[in-house]
Amino acid sequence: MSNNNNAVTLSAPLSGPVLTLGNVPDEVFASGAMGEGLAIDPLNSCLHAPCDGEIIHVARTGHALTIRADNGAELLMHLGIDTVELKGEGFALLVKQGARVSLGQALVRFDLDCIARQCKSLISLIILTNGEHFDVLPLASQTVNVGEPLMQVIARSTAPAQTAVDNSIEEASARVHITHRGGLHARPAALIRKTAQGFSSQARLHYADKSAACDSLIGLMGLGIGEGDEVRVTCRGKDCEAALQALVAALSAPMKEEHHAPAAVTPRRANTEAGVLQGVCAAPGLVCGPLFRLSGIELPADTGQHSADEQLQRLDTALEQVRGEIRNTLEHARQRKNVEEEDIFAAHLALLEDPTLLEAATGAIEQGSAATHAWRDAIQAQCAVLLALGKPLFAERANDLRDLQQRVLRTLLGEAWHFELPAGAIVSAHELTPSDLLQLSAQQAVGLCMAEGGATSHVAILARGKGLPCVVALGSEVLDVPQGQRVVLDAANGRLELAPSEARHAQVHQIRDAQKLRRQQQQAQAHQPARTSDGVGIEVAANVASSADAQTAFENGADGVGLLRTEFLFVDRRTAPDEQEQRQAYQAVLDAMGDKSVIIRTIDVGGDKQLDYLPLPVEANPVLGLRGIRMAQVRPELLDQQLRALLQLTPLARCRILLPMVSEVDELLEIRQRLDELCAQLKLTQRPELGVMIEVPAAALMAEQLAEHADFLSIGTNDLSQYTLAMDRDHAGLAARVDALHPALLRLIAQTCDGAAKHGRWVGVCGALASDPLATPALIGLGVSELSVSPPQIAEIKDRVRHLDAAQCRQLSLSLLDLSSAKAVRQACQHHWPLS
Ligand code: PEP
Ligand code: MG
Repeated sequence: MSNNNNAVTLSAPLSGPVLTLGNVPDEVFASGAMGEGLAIDPLNSCLHAPCDGEIIHVARTGHALTIRADNGAELLMHLGIDTVELKGEGFALLVKQGARVSLGQALVRFDLDCIARQCKSLISLIILTNGEHFDVLPLASQTVNVGEPLMQVIARSTAPAQTAVDNSIEEASARVHITHRGGLHARPAALIRKTAQGFSSQARLHYADKSAACDSLIGLMGLGIGEGDEVRVTCRGKDCEAALQALVAALSAPMKEEHHAPAAVTPRRANTEAGVLQGVCAAPGLVCGPLFRLSGIELPADTGQHSADEQLQRLDTALEQVRGEIRNTLEHARQRKNVEEEDIFAAHLALLEDPTLLEAATGAIEQGSAATHAWRDAIQAQCAVLLALGKPLFAERANDLRDLQQRVLRTLLGEAWHFELPAGAIVSAHELTPSDLLQLSAQQAVGLCMAEGGATSHVAILARGKGLPCVVALGSEVLDVPQGQRVVLDAANGRLELAPSEARHAQVHQIRDAQKLRRQQQQAQAHQPARTSDGVGIEVAANVASSADAQTAFENGADGVGLLRTEFLFVDRRTAPDEQEQRQAYQAVLDAMGDKSVIIRTIDVGGDKQLDYLPLPVEANPVLGLRGIRMAQVRPELLDQQLRALLQLTPLARCRILLPMVSEVDELLEIRQRLDELCAQLKLTQRPELGVMIEVPAAALMAEQLAEHADFLSIGTNDLSQYTLAMDRDHAGLAARVDALHPALLRLIAQTCDGAAKHGRWVGVCGALASDPLATPALIGLGVSELSVSPPQIAEIKDRVRHLDAAQCRQLSLSLLDLSSAKAVRQACQHHWPLS
């Protein structure tokens, strides 16, 4: 047999009929989960070496071993099905692990009768286990005799010849329902890939009659798995159980940005009004300006005169350059704690490293294509796969691929990655990509409109984050609008007005000017304390997750930090932050806030916030499980460590500690006692204030008892709504109904304030309701004296407070408690305290 470094011809290790894997009576082998290969139904009783190589793994029970061929291919030879159960009976190993063997050498003798009597089948397998680096070419399809050609294993050109692979044949599998909204599209697929990469086991997903390795983003997306579909996960390797557990968790975990995305892609609406294109709002806002048409790169025909090596080198260099740029974007996103941007570009980076895509491109170059054309074609082929799935979310992900197509093409063509925008332009394009958007926003575009796209696309998420009005699905007519034409984009209503009158222009300018002026006026007063017209002081603080946020909050006029969600220091990392790192992080927040006070909430993980390094018991209802302060039940040392870090902050007088998810007084008393002990250990005379979050109905109902022992109460309206209304706060279908202005919530808020007042304690609100200006008068009326809001809204909420009369708020808000629904409360609020 002629072998070279790249290709090895394997000889039959057994004699007997040859079967394809699909005919093997075992689900895991048949599905290809273990890798590609062939099977033989043996008629002889000795397994021979199919090639020269090294025995890199031998099952203790003698029923399986793995040989590494000289080209690096690793081949598992597995005798019979379920033969591990024989515990070695009937097998005689003739070689040891680590032995160098030659083609045809006898490796295992086995007793055909004994195996046939006790096991499901004698059918034996020859499986390539590191298939990501090799291709298999079957050479036999009927009956073979030992030593006859069976199959060829060819190294792929980009494959490293020797990669350390987990050769263990332990395996685990589970079925799981996909809970990611819209199915396994790019970001969830990237999460799955990242999770799988944390383990040495090889993991695959199986769906319908297809399967894909978890390390291929494209492979995973190509399965076309939809929300609610059931898939099977298989893991093979030493850490298969842990890998399986992590993958099952990742497959059923909701993605962060999905909480805020509109529930579904709305179909394009017909253009019925003359001079107006109708699309779908992806980010609201009203703007006018000249239209700037952004087009993609069109390549001339390929001349075909290239050196493959040179083109491969060009592609490699371009890919590396783009990866470097994306890593920079990622780093910036991380520094700014912009989780959405981070997720999107992490998925892009994963796509750029995707083996399926890279192999298609390098394969085309080896066949004579130019790097540019090979890259374009490889992307187009993958886009076609995604589009053919016929699911909107997957089709939208094709846009991420087109983004990478453009970026790499621009790099290959040597064009500078930028374009000049006229001032105040509204940009139109077939479909903009996330990197276009970052560039356009930096160049002060005022609006975006696209022929295609959906409201759940990455671009839409980024546009909302940047406050850039954006309309998608306008149809191809938008591409025919002449360059420079003045248009009005009324994004909230999904309208692009192509020929606005002068009067309309003037009106848009007027609305925008009025909004801008109001914002400026509010901003000018942002650093002044907020008092109602009858002199009641309301503290307007900020919700933050980092010292950078705190800095922004301080600049925006925050009276303090009303909620520091410390769990953000603990998530997205492989190890826990130690006491010193925690202390530094909290101190940085304190330092960023001048002389203002900072409320630091102890870690609130569990529920939907899981930590990689902190395996918590699997729970049927995690949101009702060991989350928040309850975690101290199972991991008291974590809370102790955090409390110690907090007690070392200076000045301690500016630091208040807040406990999440408290549901009874004993929880508070226990932590208070522990805090006293730690203070004594650290020889502290001063003790920080200790507050309780009111985010469980039980806590609101027990507010009076809690207030007796707490220094303050802070209402978490997000969870309080979820638990009071029995509606998942992340459920897209219920999003419009999880409204904290529900009368039931208002009653709990009223009860909390009354309970606190009996002990002279103050009450704040740190849930999202505090940032809703429609709710401000009701909250003040019910007795809340601190509102902790998102930093950009500080000026607006302070302004709202200044225009209210607290006595009137008190009087009118009581009547809200008797209304029948959140909708009725909203209407009444708008009636009593209109939002201009
Ligand atoms: C809340 O539940 O309202 C709250 C502020 O906490 P989180 O949103 O972090 O759960
Ligand atoms: Mg909460």
